Amino acid sequence: MSTILEVKNLTKKFVDNEVLKNVSFELEKGETLAVIGSSGSGKSTLLRCLNHLSAPDSGQILLEGVDITTPGTDINKVRADMGFVFQDFNLFTHLTILENVMFGPLRVRKLSKNEARQIAMEEIRKVGMADKIGAYPAQLSGGQQQRISIARALALRPKLILFDEPTSALDPELTGEVLSVMTALAKEGMTAIVVTHEMGFARSVADKVIFIDQGLIVEQGCPKKMFAAPQHERTRLFLNNFG
Ligand code: ADP
Ligand code: MG
Repeated sequence: MSTILEVKNLTKKFVDNEVLKNVSFELEKGETLAVIGSSGSGKSTLLRCLNHLSAPDSGQILLEGVDITTPGTDINKVRADMGFVFQDFNLFTHLTILENVMFGPLRVRKLSKNEARQIAMEEIRKVGMADKIGAYPAQLSGGQQQRISIARALALRPKLILFDEPTSALDPELTGEVLSVMTALAKEGMTAIVVTHEMGFARSVADKVIFIDQGLIVEQGCPKKMFAAPQHERTRLFLNNFG
C-alpha cells in the first residue's frame, strides 16, 4: 500500500471560532475514508481545506508526498486531482449531461473534444446514465443528478474523490442508487473521503472512519471496531443517535 494523502496538524479558524483543531490523518491509495460527526463539527471545512476551497491557518496537506499548502501551489491542478461531489450536486444547469461531464476533461485537463467525449461517455456509462446524455439537469431526479455529478468528478481522472454528504439532499428512495455507485467505486479501488450520515455505508464500505467533534478528531480507526465498541464517550453518544 502507498500513502496518497497525509494531513498533519491542520487548523482552521473563522475569526475566533476554531473549526479544525490539529487534525491529522493518513489515507492509503484505494482506501475509502468515512468522516462522521454532528452538524457544525467541521466536516465540510475539512474537505474544503483539502481542496483549496478554504485556506487552512496552519498544518500540512501532502498529496503523494507533495505539500499542497505551500505558496505557489497550482490550485487548479489540486482541484483536478481531488474531485469534489457536493451535497446539492452543483451541476451547470445550462449544459446538458454530456456537456457537464465533458467540461472538466476539456477545460481543466485540456483534452481534445473527441477524447473528452470518450472519457465523459465512459464515466456516464459507469453511473448508469447513458440514456440521458442530452438531458438538462433539471430534467433529472436528484439521485440521477448526483450520479452525473460523480461522473463529472471521475471524468477529471482524479487521484481521489471528496464527497460532502452526497445523499443528504435526496429523498430516502433515491439515496440507495447513489450509495451503490459509491460502493462500486470503492470496490474498484477508487480512493475517496466520504462525509456522511449513512452509518450503514460507513460501517460496511469504508476502510477507515474518523469521528470528528467540535473540530477535533475524537477517534479514528476500523469502522467495524469503532461501531461495535467506541473508545470514547462522545463517539458512543453520537453513534447512539443512529440506533
Ligand atoms: P459540518 O460540515 O460538520 O456541518 P462545517 O465545516 O460546515 O461543519 O462548519 C463548522 C463550523 O464552522 C460551524 O460552526 C460553522 O458555522 C463554521 N463555518 C463554516 N464555514 C464558515 C464561514 N465561511 N465563515 C464563518 N464560519 C464558518
Ligand atoms: Mg457540512
